[in-house]
Amino acid sequence: IEANFSTITKDTGEENGVIAVLHDVTEQERVEEERREFVANVSHELRTPLTSMKSYLEALSDGALHDPEIAPQFLNVTANETDRMIRLVNDLLQLSKMDSKDSNMSFQDIHAPQLINHVIDRFEMTTKNQDIQFKRKLPDEPITIQGDRDKLMQLLDNIVSNSVKYSPEGGTINVSLKVEKERIVVSVKDEGVGIPKENIEHVFDRFYRVDKARARNLGGTGLGLAIAREIATAHGGNIWVSSDWGKGTTFSFSLPYVQQEAVVEQ
Ligand code: ADP
Repeated sequence: IEANFSTITKDTGEENGVIAVLHDVTEQERVEEERREFVANVSHELRTPLTSMKSYLEALSDGALHDPEIAPQFLNVTANETDRMIRLVNDLLQLSKMDSKDSNMSFQDIHAPQLINHVIDRFEMTTKNQDIQFKRKLPDEPITIQGDRDKLMQLLDNIVSNSVKYSPEGGTINVSLKVEKERIVVSVKDEGVGIPKENIEHVFDRFYRVDKARARNLGGTGLGLAIAREIATAHGGNIWVSSDWGKGTTFSFSLPYVQQEAVVEQ
């Protein structure tokens, strides 16, 4: 705790009181420490692809450019590193928009099972060459929630793309939607590597990765789940994870839902 004292002085110059202002600096310090850590992380994440690009570009200008075998490979590496930086900057922009409450969310009626089907259809297309199977357990009746369509698609996208990344060959990914009293719960269950107990509480933190090298190789920015959490909470929902190390992981999120009274025809 930090204290500032000021004395109260009468017109006559005589002191007749003291004001003490007490500040709780621990919260301030924590925020400041988080900010410093965030800037250090961003710098590091940008420096890594930049350093790699610089060395490949140097090799190209030192002669590799004229080698018809090597030149395309090196150019390919620099293109991949550029893509990675673009993904990172896009994710950072998205987070900073959500932080500043300037997220321009536009709420509309959304048919939840339809949105889920749409996202999973896309993943089925893009994972055609991988041996991964999607199973859906979605209610048939229309379930309309209020939300920002693009943001909710991104939330699901971030979770499903992780489950694809961490799934083994031949793995199944189960996607389900359950209607509860005042919310819907969407779950994505994979049969992948799982997350060790000691890491699980951190996976929604910005830049947190269980296996840094592996996650980077898989193209991750370390921000996907942080963004997913921001989107869920901005909708008044929640997000959580349970995992069995070596067996698989289930990510779930909830969104508010008011069940319509059934209209009884007479
Ligand atoms: P990344 O871009 O690294 O995927 P995320 O924020 O999306 O970043 O995820 C953070 C970390 O959580 C990942 O690096 C990974 O270690 C872990 N993780 C996320 N989803 C899964 C999953 N389905 N199975 C196992 N580990 C996961």
